[in-house]
Amino acid sequence: MPSFSPGTAFALTQILRGFSQGSFSDVVSSYEKYTNHYFFHPALENEIPVPQSDIINALDYLDNQGVLLSEETITRYCIDCFSLDVELSQKCPSCGSLDVLFGKTLTHKCGYKDIEGNFGSPENMICPGCKEGIYSIFSECQVGEPTFMCRTCKSYFEVATPAYVCKDCGRIYKAGEEPYVRIKKYEPAPLLIALKPDIISTFKLYEALCGYLEKKDLQLRKNAILDEGEIITYWNALLYAQNSKERFGILALAPIEKLDFETVESLIRSKKAAKLDAVFAILASNVPQDQSKRLSDERILIVNPRLTRFDIESELGKTVSPLIK
Ligand SMILES: [Zn+2]
Ligand SMILES: [Zn+2]
Ligand SMILES: [Zn+2]
Repeated sequence: MPSFSPGTAFALTQILRGFSQGSFSDVVSSYEKYTNHYFFHPALENEIPVPQSDIINALDYLDNQGVLLSEETITRYCIDCFSLDVELSQKCPSCGSLDVLFGKTLTHKCGYKDIEGNFGSPENMICPGCKEGIYSIFSECQVGEPTFMCRTCKSYFEVATPAYVCKDCGRIYKAGEEPYVRIKKYEPAPLLIALKPDIISTFKLYEALCGYLEKKDLQLRKNAILDEGEIITYWNALLYAQNSKERFGILALAPIEKLDFETVESLIRSKKAAKLDAVFAILASNVPQDQSKRLSDERILIVNPRLTRFDIESELGKTVSPLIK
């Protein structure tokens, strides 16, 4: 697992949950360059209380890992007239005209020089200078390298300046400054369909744990953000004990993650930053012995939904007993 920010890790699990539980079947992120704004459909930013950049990082990470498939389209438009008819054109570097031709240069024996296209069609070439017909350009003209020519100021140049032009109102945008909307659609890949049972049971266990602990007189706060330490941390739930000052966190982890050294250390950092007394981390995968020892020393308990009978209350009691009596 790469070292995500806590917000990205949180967004990632919530996105996987939404797909697995059928809350949505695809996610569309639209980026509007002119206003520098992202929009999501469905409105993930309302469901997942993390910065937008974390949602984008999570979607792109899942895309790169082959968990989601994405398709991107870019639509350029004119901010003056909202026309979508915006085309890439070449601009003359000396006068700025868009009336630019590209082709081989021909210098006729009379001395007239122009771009090949201005001599007429290949079957019927006439020198625009002396009006004489040309039968063979190679014997009657000097043929130069292909180049640009401005029809407005008649200058020749090798590198034109790319620009986007609105075909409706004529507004010109420097290349790179043209307004556009980029739409990226993410859909589940077969890998996500394979992970679905684990994701669903992760959240079933999460709901069962919350229900059980609430009955144990702990106050529950879901989708919590804690900004008390050096990092902002996100928790699927926080639990406050009524008669002691203890508080616990519950974190549902995505089953695509391996609990490697990095992940373990980042979990410990998050718990410390959030000043939590103990943490339940739900993860549908096996934890190496040494990691599990390191975590339990820090009062972080990994609960595996594959190995936990969360439909039986007494089993839940046994599961939480290392942290809550
Ligand atoms: Zn020009
Ligand atoms: Zn001529
Ligand atoms: Zn326009």
